[in-house]
Amino acid sequence: MRILIIEDEQKVAAFIQKGLEQEGYAVDVAYDGEEGAYQAENFDYDAMILDLMLPKMPGLEVLKSIRARDLSLPVLILTAKGAVEDKVTGLDSGASDYLVKPFAFAELSARIRVLLRRGAQESTTLRLADLEMNTATRTVTRAGRKIDLKLKEFSLLEFLLRNARRTVTRTMIIEHVWDIHFDSVSNVVDVHINSLRNKIDREFSPPLIHTIRGVGYMLTDEPS
Ligand code: CA
Repeated sequence: MRILIIEDEQKVAAFIQKGLEQEGYAVDVAYDGEEGAYQAENFDYDAMILDLMLPKMPGLEVLKSIRARDLSLPVLILTAKGAVEDKVTGLDSGASDYLVKPFAFAELSARIRVLLRRGAQESTTLRLADLEMNTATRTVTRAGRKIDLKLKEFSLLEFLLRNARRTVTRTMIIEHVWDIHFDSVSNVVDVHINSLRNKIDREFSPPLIHTIRGVGYMLTDEPS
């Protein structure tokens, strides 16, 4: 899942980015409102973290410009301590949730999980056939056996599970699992698909990861 942080305080932005990346999210950062609005318009994000006090364009304006086009993108606003009117205005302007600074990373992370869930109307468990992922405890099992995944393998599988039985292109995978600095000429998607196959499919039946030739991949328990 790919997240955009719009926050002008570099230390705060770096703190959030580092924490989210350690949980496997692809994270882009914009340091002012204009840049943030531009990135939100030009890339496909699964959630956004938005500071309200921003240079060039205030957070609420950024939010309005996004809501004019996209009603479903989950947006978590960050507000200064005690600014109750900011929270109310933010929620009225289409924010999904808010967090008061200073905050603990664990709380931010939990709220992001809730927002991503709300978007897709689901619980913390993603499931296809005998494959199960718990996004809160970050565990994966197949046929009851625990499977250890690396960070990006987990993110890739989460994206495939959220789009189960649908074809996903390499571009879609790149846009939701890797960040803006991704090197698009590399074969990193195929490499990660292969390692994921080794872990979730090789010793199990039926195979769940299907290659859709010339297009991309599909996670499905139906034979192709
Ligand atoms: Ca700020």
